[in-house]
Amino acid sequence: MRRGRFQIQIYADLVLHVVPGFKDNYFYLLENTESHEAAVIDPGEATAISEILISKDLELSHVILTHHHTDHVGGVEQLHQKWPKAVFVCSPWFKAKPSWSELFLTRMAPAQQFCLWKHSIQVLDVRGHTLDHIALTLSEKKSNQPSDVFVGDSLFGAGCGGLFEGTHFQMLEALKTLRKLPENIRIWCAHEYTIKNLRVAIMLQENNSAQKERLQRLEHFIEKEQVEPHDWVTIPLNMKEERATNPFLRWDEPSLQKAIDTHDDLTTFTHVRTFRDKF
Ligand SMILES: [Zn+2]
Repeated sequence: MRRGRFQIQIYADLVLHVVPGFKDNYFYLLENTESHEAAVIDPGEATAISEILISKDLELSHVILTHHHTDHVGGVEQLHQKWPKAVFVCSPWFKAKPSWSELFLTRMAPAQQFCLWKHSIQVLDVRGHTLDHIALTLSEKKSNQPSDVFVGDSLFGAGCGGLFEGTHFQMLEALKTLRKLPENIRIWCAHEYTIKNLRVAIMLQENNSAQKERLQRLEHFIEKEQVEPHDWVTIPLNMKEERATNPFLRWDEPSLQKAIDTHDDLTTFTHVRTFRDKF
């Protein structure tokens, strides 16, 4: 699908609006169609989010922040001005801007759960890209199996976030946490990098047929539609496909270790991350 705003019905009373922003970001807005409330995840800017809230007459009840980078929090102050009752959810280590001191930040520790209306959200510690990064899984009421995960900049299609603050060890631990999620979970990441990541992943020469097929399929679409790689929507990502084709989730695969001549998880991950950083 070409880059553009779209929505999917997640549960009977919950719609997810996917809102593209900047060059390759995605912002997410969850709409409770019964109570007419909404929760936004990583509003890098406020305009498009406000437009949806106003046009659908929704009350913003939650603003959830995966980490402090500006392209994830740039819309916070404007949204707070318009919807002052909204609760701001972030990690215990979240680096708030000094001007935010009056905001009511709810700092949620990893493994903590909180109710999002009738449903539940669990916080995962995925520090590495930054030292305040969390991911959030969403489960329908009474189900303990999450259906969706919002990963911010920790995991991308065929990639993972660069190490701005954390260590390779921390990032690998974060990815180990994410890889344990159910295979059929929908993964919502914050940037569209899948095609570029796959082009680099292929250069590791793992001779991975699933990876080659995934890239060929996507290259075919962008050629046919005449769009840039970041203008082709590949979300939601699928954990099964990521495990098969994302080299950052394949630290223990003999075929990858053989291709790059490494013998343990951390060295393999570090090699792949360092290789990706060159492009
Ligand atoms: Zn970031």
